[in-house]
Parts: sequence; structure tokens; C-alpha cells
Amino acid sequence: MCGIVAYIGHREAYPVILKGLKRLEYRGYDSAGVALLDETGLNVYKKKGKVAEMEDSLIGKALPAKIGIGHTRWATHGEPSDRNAHPHLSASGKLAMIHNGIIENYAQLKKELVSKGYHFNSDTDTEVLLNFIEDIWLNNHCPLEEAVRIALKRVVGAYVIVLLNSEDPDTLIAARKGSPLVIGIGKNEHFLASDASPIIEYTKEVVYVNDYELAILRPDELILKNLGNEKITPYIQKLDLELSAIEKGGYDHFMLKEIFEQPQTIYDCLRGRLDADKGTIVMRGVENHLEQLMNANRIIMVACGTSWHAGLVAEYVFEELCRIPVEVEYASEFRYRNPVIHKGDIIMAISQSGETADTLVAIEKAKEQGAFIFGVLNVVGSSIARASHSGAYTHAGPEIGVASTKAFTAQLTVLMMVALKIAAAKGTISQEKYIHLLNELHEVPEKVEIALELNDRIKEIAAKYADTHDVLYLGRGYNFPVALEGALKLKEISYIHAEGYPAAEMKHGPIALVDETLPVIFVATKDSYHEKIVSNIQEIKARKGKVIAIVTEGDEMISSLADDTIELPAADEIIAPIISVIPLQLLAYYIGVYKGLDVDKPRNLAKSVTVE
Ligand code: GLU
Repeated sequence: MCGIVAYIGHREAYPVILKGLKRLEYRGYDSAGVALLDETGLNVYKKKGKVAEMEDSLIGKALPAKIGIGHTRWATHGEPSDRNAHPHLSASGKLAMIHNGIIENYAQLKKELVSKGYHFNSDTDTEVLLNFIEDIWLNNHCPLEEAVRIALKRVVGAYVIVLLNSEDPDTLIAARKGSPLVIGIGKNEHFLASDASPIIEYTKEVVYVNDYELAILRPDELILKNLGNEKITPYIQKLDLELSAIEKGGYDHFMLKEIFEQPQTIYDCLRGRLDADKGTIVMRGVENHLEQLMNANRIIMVACGTSWHAGLVAEYVFEELCRIPVEVEYASEFRYRNPVIHKGDIIMAISQSGETADTLVAIEKAKEQGAFIFGVLNVVGSSIARASHSGAYTHAGPEIGVASTKAFTAQLTVLMMVALKIAAAKGTISQEKYIHLLNELHEVPEKVEIALELNDRIKEIAAKYADTHDVLYLGRGYNFPVALEGALKLKEISYIHAEGYPAAEMKHGPIALVDETLPVIFVATKDSYHEKIVSNIQEIKARKGKVIAIVTEGDEMISSLADDTIELPAADEIIAPIISVIPLQLLAYYIGVYKGLDVDKPRNLAKSVTVE
């Protein structure tokens, strides 16, 4: 993770970098720092904590530099502290560097450097790489870019690095493998960042740097090379992102804004694709590979976190509608196992950022074994998008809140459309059911809007349960993954221990936890398991548990049993998860707010997990 920003040009670098770091804070907020080069020399300012803390410490300081680098950290090597914060300075003090990623063989490199007399001021792998580069640079008397190339050939791991050289005040050097890097091209200026959000207000012309590429940036020049020192022609793309899309727009938190954006984001996701009147779904990424998708022996959903829950819902949907066996894999396990992959297998890689390191490596591995990769991603042009054979974007817009909300519902929407298209082509769904589900999907934005009107009611429920220590989330069928997602949201935002379980499984263990103090949240909208889940609620009530039930409007049976009820508009059980997750997002949000926590930046987390 970590957010990096760098600037070279005619503006003052510090305000550009500071603003950029604030936008990238979702990627990590253990510490923040900048290195600026001006007449007075190379100055590094860094501080443990959020970007605002670094900013406060620099108020009133004259920072006129026109070149600089900045970093917001998500610690992997060494605790969050001032000394481990980036940028790091090399032993000679001539170079400053920021890094996003992990240098896996840092211990070996460190040993070599220590034997040469190097001392280290931090516990990071970054400082090791920096001094390794400097050692080559000083001993070989070569240009810095050559030293970087030589050094990177020995590096095992993932990185984006940006170097500032006090002896060359007109040049920045950057390189990438495994972590994201975007270059913004302005008039006599260049910007570097982990994603495009720090760049958009200055320029819409960007270059996405690929793995094993090195960029040499001067105000009026961009040179791109591979590690073999061959020049590469930069592929300049136009950014399709507006500034308003990454600002809070009057909401207290990005998470709340993003929850409330869902009617629009789901609509955007359906727009231009689903036409309920004509009975069609247009998705080029599916149409262009229809044969392959229809004839898949198996679909493997590969994902992490919330995206993994979207994969689980999709398992139910694809098996029901397409009659294709589906497996849902945690990318981090899948990549290190020796999974059996056959030629006709389809991997669906689900990721909001499209940069999730585990998912990226997992699909590369599956690709080598002949699998076809279909990406379900939010960030256009992301690493996973580029590594996929085909796919469909979720069009949810930038998601800044660390806890994923609108990306999840957009992923479900895309996956359901893909399943419907394949099922229609295969003939595994009746025309009647197909049209019915198309209409149901078409109505989702409106139903989500109605679900959001429950905001005040959910706020009240949140106040009632904010002091609890444990919560159980239960659901069956399509709503079982929703229960898992509800539990994850609560853990992330409120630091309350929460478990999600299939409701019927609870009698095999978790029911032992139930007493009068335990809130149990049932996701129990009307579906084919309804009577069964009513019995499960009875079982909890018989043991004096507190039941909060998410039900379909008019469900008097459950309402009479539950301590608190949240009523949602009726929906087909296949579509229901997109709606039933909404109150769970709001509940987690308000409990976090009642506890006084920073819901947009929960402790220890970061949004785009670009480390293993
Ligand atoms: N490994 C570096 C550190 O711990 C960078 C971490 C990251 O990119 O997440 O400081």
C-alpha cells in the first residue's frame, strides 16, 4: 500500500504533494513525509500519524522547492514511527527515496551493506534498497539511473520507488514492479502518483507505468526505459475522472457519501448495458468471449476481503443460473497453493482497486496454466485490468472510504449481469425468468434508495447496540455472504468482534455464544429458506439472544419475534443481496461514529492492498 506523490516543474512542489497525499491517505496513514530540494539543499520532513499531523508541523515554514517527493505509509517493515517514515535519506545524504511495496530479499542486501560499514537509521526494507542503490552509484561512478537499473535486477519483491538526487535538481527517477504508478504530463511539469487522484486537477494526460519500467522525469521531458536500458514510447492516455468525484460533497465521511451514492452507482453500472424493455444486456467483455464463457468447465472467483464476499454471492448466482460449477478462492491462499487449473477454466478476478497484490499474482499464475482471466474491477487501466483477457468495469467511481460499500454492490450488479448473459446464451434459464430478473435488476437503484430512507431508524438501532463487544451475523442462501459482509464491515469500522455464519450452521458451535447480551443480526429477507430462518430466529430467542432482523416489508412473523426490525422492499432472492447489505453498511457506519472512531481511516487498514 502506501501513497506516493512527486512533482517536478514550475509550481511550488509542497502544496501539490500535500494535497495529493491527502487524496491518497486511503492507502495508508501510519506516517507521512516529504523531501524537498531547493537552494538550501535537500530537506526531509516526516512525522508519525496522518498527513494532517505532518502538515501542522510545517505550518509557517517557507518551502519554495519546485521539486519534491511525498509519501503516506502503511507499515510493513518497522513500526509506524517518525524514524521509519518515508522519505528516507541515503547514507551520504545525497539521495532521498520513497517506496511503496516490499523488498523481500532486504535482509540479504542489508547484510552485505552492513559488512561494508553501512549503518541504518530505520527498520525499513526501503532504506536498505536506497543504500544498495547508492552503494552501486558511488562505487561505479555511473549515472544514478544506471545504478537504479543494476540494483533493481537484484531486487526480489514489489516496489514503486521515486528518487530525488541533490546533485541533479532537475530530475526525478522512478521505477515500478508490482505496485501502481501513474505519471501526469503537464506543460513544463510532471506529476507522479499511486493513482490519478492527485493529478486530475492539473492535467488529464497520463501514462501508466508498467512493471520493470523506469521513468526519468524532467520538467520538459519524460523518458521511459526498460531495465535493459531500451527506450519505450510512453502510451499517453486521457483521464476520465472528475475532481468532484473524489471530494466529500457535504457528507461527514466518504463512507457515508459512498453508501448514499449507491442508487446512482448501481444505475451507472446498469446504464448502457441492461435494457429491461428490450430484454437485452450489452457487455462487450462477455460477448467477445461468449463461447469460452459458455463452455467453461468451471469458474473460479479469486478475490480478497469484501470482493471475496461478492464472489461468494456470485457462486450461488452462477451455479443456479448458468449451471457451471463455481469455486471461490481467497487470492492469498490460491497463489501459494498448487491449484489444479485446466485449460477451459475461467478465473473471475474481483477487485475494487485492480491493484490487489495477491489477486494480481494469483491470476498471473492461473494464466500461465492456461486459464482465461475475466476481471471485475472498478479502476480503469489498473494492473489487474491490464493483466486480464477480458472483463467488465463496475463504474462505481473512486471509492475513498477504506471500508468498501459502493464497490461491493457494483460488483454484485456486474456479476449478476454476466451470469444472466451466460445463462441466456446457454439456455439454462427460461425466457420468463430471464425477463423477470432483468426487470428486478432494473428496479434495484430505486429499491436501494428506499433502503437508504431507513437511515434514521438504523441510527437509532446503532445507538442501542454501540456498546456491545460481540455480534453474530446470520443468513442463509444468497444472504449468507451478506451476513459475512455485514460482520466484516462492523469489524473494520467499529473494532467490535463480529462473526458471520450460515444461520443453520450456528447449532454446530456458535450458538454456545448466545445469551441475553449477544446481539444477533439476521439477514432474513423473503426467499426459499424463509421458514427455515424463522426457526433459527426462534432458536436464538429461546436462548434470550437479542435479534435484529433485516426482513422484507410486511413480514409480520419475523417482526413479532425480533427485538428490532428493518424492513426492505421485496426483491427476488437472487437480486436481494444488493439491497439487504445496505442497512448493514449503515449500521456499521453509525456504530463506528457513535464510538468516536475515524470511520474513513480505520486503524491498521488501508484501502488498496498492494502488498502481500
Ligand atoms: N515496506 C515499506 C515500509 O514498510 C513500504 C510499505 C508499503 O508500501 O506498504 O515502509
